[in-house]
Amino acid sequence: MLYNIIGEIMKRIDELVELLNKYNYEYYSNDAPTVSDNEYDSLLYELIELEKQNPSLIREDSPTQKVGSKVLSNFEKVKHEIPMFSLGNVFNDSELKDFHNRIKKVIKKPQYVCELKIDGLSVSLEYKEGILFRASTRGDGISGENITHNVKTIKSIPIKLNKCVNITVRGEIFMPKSSLEKLNKEREKEDLPLFQNCRNAAAGSIRQLDSKVCSKRNLDAFLYHLPTNDLKTHYESLEYFKTLGLKVNPNIEICDDIKSVINYIKKWTKKRDALSYDIDGIVVKINSIQDQEKLGYTAKTPKWAIAYKFPALEAETELTDIIFTVGRSGSITPNAVLNPVKIAGSTISRATLHNENFVKEKNLLIGDYIYLRKAGDVIPEVLRPNIQRRTGKELPFKMITSCPICNEPLIKKNNSVDYFCTNDLCPKRNIEALIHFTSRDAMNIEGLGEKILEDFYNEKIITTFSNIYTLYNKKDKLMLLEGFGQKSITKLLKNIEKSKASSLERLIYALGIEGIGVKNAKTLCKKFHTIDDFINATYEDYEEIKTIGKVLASSLVSYFLDENNIKIINELKSLGVNMISNIKLSNKETPVSNKTVVITGTFDISRTNIKNKLEALGANISESVSASTDIVLVGDNPGSKYEKALKLNIEICTKDKLNDLLNL
Ligand code: NAD
Repeated sequence: MLYNIIGEIMKRIDELVELLNKYNYEYYSNDAPTVSDNEYDSLLYELIELEKQNPSLIREDSPTQKVGSKVLSNFEKVKHEIPMFSLGNVFNDSELKDFHNRIKKVIKKPQYVCELKIDGLSVSLEYKEGILFRASTRGDGISGENITHNVKTIKSIPIKLNKCVNITVRGEIFMPKSSLEKLNKEREKEDLPLFQNCRNAAAGSIRQLDSKVCSKRNLDAFLYHLPTNDLKTHYESLEYFKTLGLKVNPNIEICDDIKSVINYIKKWTKKRDALSYDIDGIVVKINSIQDQEKLGYTAKTPKWAIAYKFPALEAETELTDIIFTVGRSGSITPNAVLNPVKIAGSTISRATLHNENFVKEKNLLIGDYIYLRKAGDVIPEVLRPNIQRRTGKELPFKMITSCPICNEPLIKKNNSVDYFCTNDLCPKRNIEALIHFTSRDAMNIEGLGEKILEDFYNEKIITTFSNIYTLYNKKDKLMLLEGFGQKSITKLLKNIEKSKASSLERLIYALGIEGIGVKNAKTLCKKFHTIDDFINATYEDYEEIKTIGKVLASSLVSYFLDENNIKIINELKSLGVNMISNIKLSNKETPVSNKTVVITGTFDISRTNIKNKLEALGANISESVSASTDIVLVGDNPGSKYEKALKLNIEICTKDKLNDLLNL
């Protein structure tokens, strides 16, 4: 029995070593990975755990025992005088604290330096008497490839230093996000395979035999390591780099305790998307060189540094099916059914595929392995299929022609790419409309969630908006439903009663008028103060509002011309639902009245606060800068919105003038 178990473990270790070595070769030598980093990392983690429990089974060629991959024969081999190490990884605060506790066993009061972990490839630069003599890749850590001809084309790497010194420095070569975008656009035109990310593109460019190719790729570099360091601290060596003319990342911070390290990590986890280059984590290093020496190295990594890896924003998984959902407007959306996969801390098993065109443009087949991206609270986005993993068994996608719920034929409206079910009695459309009506930004009725509304609809308890406000008549019926007792019914009825006083802008949004979201509803209620103002308004009245435009004006007019809709409104009115705006605009005209304002960067007071104040002064807040923006409010570390505003010559209001703007 025991023999069998050990046999199984050995077999799995062999499988993992073979597989991971193959992936390493594809990643490091060919710059063309066939699996996602997430998948690679989880296989590596499995191997590390098996080896930890069975140290006698560790194979010499295990990827846990060496750095990178073999050196390519196309390039001259360069032996590193001091090996180039990789970094150990941690994935959360608790693992980071374990690292800190290990350090504290050797160093009583460690001081750290926190740096961004640039997602590129490491490079070693050798300068002789101040002149770049040789540049090489990390390779397997002992020897790398001579890439001097290509490195000389990178503008931020000086050929001549400011001082005539013999020095070897190390750092990261990377491709800025904008360069990757430009490169992939060009490759798309020429029908060439696209680079999956900035790292692969940078590595692929640096391994070109012809330096003319590399020179067009707009690579950049940051230097972060001095392997033979006779200065006192790592931070001093970075300052020294600057005096030599070497480019150092500007976002490096000294942290005296682990709490400040965690704060640095938190800050950059939030801000990473705003950087013009990719980072995949934070590197935490011991500052004192003497302490670094005390701590030493493992076979593969320094013990004085660790990489805190960000949760992956991209993952690969199988697209097992494509199903269709019906929205409240009747729009039909294809949805990807996925083998559940973890990205950015959440498990994803569904993702929208928007419409038929999206599926065709992305060339997706059912059964494909696909790449997905999710950042923070953003909805998961399907990026592309992994063509290399196709087996020939994948099935083509076919758009449906009738509603999956009520079977009515689907139609396309006004040249739109979407298909619609136009059956007003389609149960799914009605349920979706009710879900929207009660949702948080609309009438905000706690206790009437999606599942309950679906059950109530099927039981014919609530089929229209007005049924919600007469629910008290069906108390007895509710008592018979599972999960409902006297207490929960009383609470629900109280919440429904409370929602009657919701503002007019909430009601306008809740009605589900095509194209009218929370922001437009608010803007409209600044001009139209009662529901009758809406009913009596003309197309021109609506169109006059800057952010409304022709399409929404038509949508509003046709909504309020429909007798059925007026009937719904009258029913709600007679049941006591508020139909009057409570937006209290300051009476005097302010410099921001009716102006479209965009906010970028950070401020001493919260953005929500600023937004609310500006709105109360009559401004319309917008998320993006365009020709119709009037003012851009700029705080610390502004994003690309600021640059765009400058380009478009839009009025800029800086942080120091914010008080003047708000205290008018
Ligand atoms: P790593 O990228 O996890 O970390 C070490 C590297 O970080 C260093 O060598 C250096 O190049 C870089 N770095 C960036 N900024 C730095 C800074 N400020 N200070 C110090 N170093 C900095 O390690 P690795 O060994 O290069 O790569 C391993 C990772 O590569 C895996 O975790 C996996 O995600 C990925 N990988 C993927 C595949 C695949 O098939 N998808 C295969 C192999 C490896």
